Amino acid sequence: MVVRIIAVVQLLLVVNCYGEAKNQFDGYKVLRVKVQSQKEVEVMRRLEETGKYDFWNFPFDVMTTPDNADEIQHMLDDNEIEYHIRIDDVQKLIDNQFNVRNGEIKSLSVDPDDLYYTVYHRYAEIDQWVKDTAARYPDLAKEFIIGRSYEKRVMRALKIGAESNVTKPAMWINSGIHAREWITPATNIWMTNKMLHTYTEDSRVTRLLDMFDLYILPVFNVDGYDYTWDVYRLWRKTRSVNMGVGPECYGVDPNRNWPHEFGGGGTSTNPCSYSYRGEYPLSEVEVRQVVEWIRQKSQTQEFKFFMDIHSAAQMWMNPWGYTYDFPKDYDDHNIIGKAFVDALASVHNTTYQYGTITELLYVASGSSVDWAYGSAGIKYSHATELRDTGEYGFLLPEDQILPTAQETYEGMLAAYDIVMNSQ
Ligand SMILES: [Zn+2]
Repeated sequence: MVVRIIAVVQLLLVVNCYGEAKNQFDGYKVLRVKVQSQKEVEVMRRLEETGKYDFWNFPFDVMTTPDNADEIQHMLDDNEIEYHIRIDDVQKLIDNQFNVRNGEIKSLSVDPDDLYYTVYHRYAEIDQWVKDTAARYPDLAKEFIIGRSYEKRVMRALKIGAESNVTKPAMWINSGIHAREWITPATNIWMTNKMLHTYTEDSRVTRLLDMFDLYILPVFNVDGYDYTWDVYRLWRKTRSVNMGVGPECYGVDPNRNWPHEFGGGGTSTNPCSYSYRGEYPLSEVEVRQVVEWIRQKSQTQEFKFFMDIHSAAQMWMNPWGYTYDFPKDYDDHNIIGKAFVDALASVHNTTYQYGTITELLYVASGSSVDWAYGSAGIKYSHATELRDTGEYGFLLPEDQILPTAQETYEGMLAAYDIVMNSQ
């Protein structure tokens, strides 16, 4: 009976998503907390573990509801932890994110071929984009299906590369593993289109698509992504049901669910936490199917590169995530990281950092990068965190999609170049 009631409440929530839920983030704030000791980090960790606050970034941007704002500020004051209010009203940023679609930015000068890419798209549109792109470039692109999500959505992906008589090495590029990071699918589909569009014109792209097959999954967490459009803009996790908790505690952090050093530091056992790792490795069907697909494909093609695109922190990240130890390829990882950030900065002067996940952020076990590097044996396994560094966070306005995609593209081509030269 309880289950039935929850299901009905959920349904009502979806039906009313553009009604009651419209101003659901009125007065929500994001605090930037400046921790200065391990003790202060521990205080913040305990706060995160309660599941009451949404940690946008570590260390530490924390979103609070208006009701909990006093409590967290008192707690920080009592512990003499420095902070300031980074975002005063989250709803304002949500209203502002469609600034191109709503016509507020009229003078954005774009190539007509880019128009589609100047706005954010729902999953159904991106799914259609994969099919349309495969149809438009039959010699270079093929669509394929990774599997179905928990809620039975199709996880559609694209293989791009020139036909070849010999088996080519492969690369994997996914975005949208965290549902609310909308800039990541937007950037990934722009970059993919750009490569297909400039094959034969740009010798870097010709060489890449002649040498490699690229497997591109634009939206990894398809259920979560739809949920961010329909119900709750700032959802991060998958949408699987956890036993014994309410709908606000559904889902698993799909970037803590991979089977390499699962369950270590930087993961939570609380289903209400945004870094909930799940009951066991690969509990999430989306992660399980990607892992199985790459394992299967690796029997015939050697993967040389793995990329998991996130936002928002402006970083290029190397393994490991589960430990502060450096991997054996530490120096080569820094070379590719530097090439990416230098090329990226050359476009719009945007500054990125590079390093291991633990050097840059925090310990995070069971991540995609650690699995790709440690279990799948892919030397160049990385993640990126796209724009920005906190002004808008996950709510980056649409007029930043093209600049973000353009600069990321140059960075990625520089990184691909290093992988190609290491062949
Ligand atoms: Zn992320």
